[in-house]
Amino acid sequence: MSFMGGKNARRNYGKTRAAVASVATERFQILLDQAKQMARKDEKLSQRYVSLARKISSRTKVRIPRESKMYLCKGCGLALVPGYNAKIRLHAHTTGIVISCLSCGAVKRYPVRAKIAASKGLAR
Ligand SMILES: [Zn+2]
Repeated sequence: MSFMGGKNARRNYGKTRAAVASVATERFQILLDQAKQMARKDEKLSQRYVSLARKISSRTKVRIPRESKMYLCKGCGLALVPGYNAKIRLHAHTTGIVISCLSCGAVKRYPVRAKIAASKGLAR
């Protein structure tokens, strides 16, 4: 495998792209894990970890996994820890999953379809 560029650079694009994605995803996990732990001790640091993860995401064009993103506040950029700084309610037949940030009051809603709920172990 060559990263020297030149004529073959284009051919390696797919592989490089996958490598970037896997490194980025690894970084998200580390950063967001730290962000969650820090949410209890140091909100500023927690917000910094989240903003770093977002920066990596926008720079690499790799999306933060949906499940992780659910626990990031759009309002204040904190990592949300259910039962500590976030409230999670499941209204299966109406709004779906509702996550409220207890720090800034921002509310996120995720409509739930029965199939998704079942696969995530949320139904029953
Ligand atoms: Zn918030």
